[in-house]
Amino acid sequence: MKHIRNFCVIAHIDHGKSTLSDRLLDFTQSVSERDKMDQQLDDMDLERERGITIKSHAIQMHYTHPDDGQEYIFNMIDTPGHVDFSYEVSRSIAACEGALLLVDATQGIQAQTISNLFLALEHDLEIIPILNKVDMETAMIEEMADQMIDLTGCEREDIILASGKTGIGVPEIMRAVVNRIPPPKGDPAAPLQALIFDSVFNPFRGVIAYVRVMNGVLKKNDKIHFLATEASYHADEVGAMELNMKPTAEIGCGDVGYVITGLKRSSEIKVGDTVTHDARRGEMLSGFEEVKPMVFAGIFPLDNDDFEPLRDSLEKLQLNDASLIFEPETSAALGYGFRCGFLGMLHLEIVQERLFREFNMDVITTVPNVTYRVTDTKGNVFEIRNPAELPEPNNRAMVEEPFISSQIITTTDYIGAIMNLCIDKRGTLLRQTYLSPHRVELHFELPLAEIVFDFYDRLKSISRGYASFDYQPLDYRETDLVRMDIKLNSENVDALSALVHRSKAEYIGRGMCKKLRELLPRQQFMIAIQAAIGAKVIARETLSAMRKDVTAKCYGGDISRKRKLLEKQKAGKRKMRQFGKVEVPQKAFLDCLKLD
Ligand code: GDP
Ligand code: MG
Repeated sequence: MKHIRNFCVIAHIDHGKSTLSDRLLDFTQSVSERDKMDQQLDDMDLERERGITIKSHAIQMHYTHPDDGQEYIFNMIDTPGHVDFSYEVSRSIAACEGALLLVDATQGIQAQTISNLFLALEHDLEIIPILNKVDMETAMIEEMADQMIDLTGCEREDIILASGKTGIGVPEIMRAVVNRIPPPKGDPAAPLQALIFDSVFNPFRGVIAYVRVMNGVLKKNDKIHFLATEASYHADEVGAMELNMKPTAEIGCGDVGYVITGLKRSSEIKVGDTVTHDARRGEMLSGFEEVKPMVFAGIFPLDNDDFEPLRDSLEKLQLNDASLIFEPETSAALGYGFRCGFLGMLHLEIVQERLFREFNMDVITTVPNVTYRVTDTKGNVFEIRNPAELPEPNNRAMVEEPFISSQIITTTDYIGAIMNLCIDKRGTLLRQTYLSPHRVELHFELPLAEIVFDFYDRLKSISRGYASFDYQPLDYRETDLVRMDIKLNSENVDALSALVHRSKAEYIGRGMCKKLRELLPRQQFMIAIQAAIGAKVIARETLSAMRKDVTAKCYGGDISRKRKLLEKQKAGKRKMRQFGKVEVPQKAFLDCLKLD
């Protein structure tokens, strides 16, 4: 154990975590020239394209320390950078003794830098502060170093200057990992306790759980038991995670590795659960939580006949995305589909995109909403995930909505605009802390529903990108909720119904009607667009009829051109759904809520 170091890299998104991780791998020659690719830890196509780390991964490196000539084993655990996945970050951190705290020297400390640092400090991790991207001309090294000293209480000489691009600072980082991060503690003779900090799905091997052994030893062929799910399995294979899996006889105390049990569904392995021996059971490690979806939306096949294929695709997707949940739902407007639960809006977008790319499923996603807690007049308490489930006003005694605690870091120029935005979003300012004379951290409590749709975009635009945002779930609070319906030519389109705060209903209703007028294509007849609460219409717009047939301008002369146009029109139609006589394009369902 003396020669093991377990650490993670924590940073705000785009501060260079993946790039620097690649340099550490190069330095220890953990990846052969043949396998080399940029961002080697982000192995999902989508991650590569979007440049974000969706799932955390771990990798083992071997490092020979120049001072004592000893070989050390480094287990580096990469963490996802987006708030949607913060529970996974917290489990990765719990598997480590140290953290590389990476700050972009051109950007300075951002919201996720702080929230991740606090998580690391809660787990008593040794922090190695690193100023990254020092190769850039715009790097403000001294100013950013001061910020880091203020934030972490470190000394100036503790800060390593690095560049993932040029490799500056990499040898110093390796040395600091050995010298500053303590080796793992633990008792190899105690009952087995291994923390599952991540799991991945492999189509050939089934579910692979990534574990950190806290006490005891996990051997191949052991009969093991999962304490939270109360399931017992056989450890078919254990090993170390180099770039590829390397089977070993055991994962020793303090070490990080993987275990394969023949399990076929990700949902059967819970991140944060404890693995122990079936015959000699250890106690559950602290901190386990069931991950709960925060955002719900309907997903419907664009083509009604695709309901079964859609179910099939969602099931396959769920195999490697345990946080995705779904149940059948029917909509008068869209037919048969599924109500799906997501960790956040990014997660929703990723699922929609993966359905399209990996399964060729074109879907309509309906207006998303958070979970509300309803107490009815008989005193029953239940959660609703769908506008249709909200009881009529005279049948409900109380509705509560989820609140979050949030941190926004920005420069002083934008405080006013951000305050206005947060107040408009029904937020309350709790604290305001100056990080430096020009940078401030604002703490708000906000309803989750208000940040789901356009909060990030508005925050980004009013601060010209100089604001970062992070949040944690807080509690449920009483709210005045109404269901707003959208009617097209008097016909209710249930898939466009939204749950909104009464004070916002008129604003949102007007915005949605206006947006729909832009999004709906002109048709041969006039379309009345209305927003209503119950029988009361609160907003309306009219889309006038199309003047001419698109082929009219071809004067009947050029047949092939005419046919082409008709085909184009038909292709356009395939992306639409018909309501009564009105056709609604696929993207209108999600985009109608993006109000300006
Ligand atoms: P992550 O989101 O923290 O994983 O960040 P990435 O590693 O994906 O880097 C974000 C962007 O910054 C990419 O465009 C990188 O090429 C760039 N980048 C990362 N490290 C450096 C660095 O040290 N110097 C410079 N100049 N650019 C860097
Ligand atoms: Mg990354």
